[in-house]
Amino acid sequence: MSSETTGRPERPGAQEWVPEGGDVQALRAAAPACRGCELWEPATQVVFSAGNPAARVALVGEQPGDVEDREGIPFVGPAGRLLQRAVDEAGIDRGEVYVTNAVKHFRFTPRGNRRIHSTPELAHITACRPWLVAELRVVDPAVVVVLGATAAKSLLGNDFRVTRHRGEVIERETSRGPCRFVPTVHPSSVLRAPDDQRDEAYAALVADLRVVQGLLAAAG
Ligand code: SF4
Repeated sequence: MSSETTGRPERPGAQEWVPEGGDVQALRAAAPACRGCELWEPATQVVFSAGNPAARVALVGEQPGDVEDREGIPFVGPAGRLLQRAVDEAGIDRGEVYVTNAVKHFRFTPRGNRRIHSTPELAHITACRPWLVAELRVVDPAVVVVLGATAAKSLLGNDFRVTRHRGEVIERETSRGPCRFVPTVHPSSVLRAPDDQRDEAYAALVADLRVVQGLLAAAG
């Protein structure tokens, strides 16, 4: 039935499904019911977050990938494993980290038996943003690491360019008070780098994460 017939917007956004005042567990429990945009339908399941709900660092990625969609856990695929290695190498304690995505359902294009990753549009990012805002409000991390362009659109605005500002500490006023953001690339871009540039791309990601480690160390 079309939205014209039902009178309901095609992408109402997630707000009406986000429980007010809920902790991370309550948010996670409510997310499977979300119909804030059309991405829920072809996906296997919602993929919410993982890690310490009282973490000092939140890592925000793009959307779940194929492996994450099947397992229901974020950052367990190849890019997630690379990110974990980079976090360890930067000296950030895994117990200090909360991981989530700007968009909670896998967007893909079917091709034969395969499902090809498809970048979320601004409308999907906007629709899903209430979940991210609610998570960051309850986790209240000291630093938010912005992994790639989709997370940057959600958290720092549509015009923000990660490549221009990676590794910088960006101070912004948010609805929960002042917050520090450190933008960097998404770990999948390291995996996609040509063979002869991959080590360099990985080292640059670790260097950006060391900026985060420095902020944590300075805060004590
Ligand atoms: S992508 Fe986000 S807004 Fe869209 S249905 Fe999934 S949880 Fe809801």
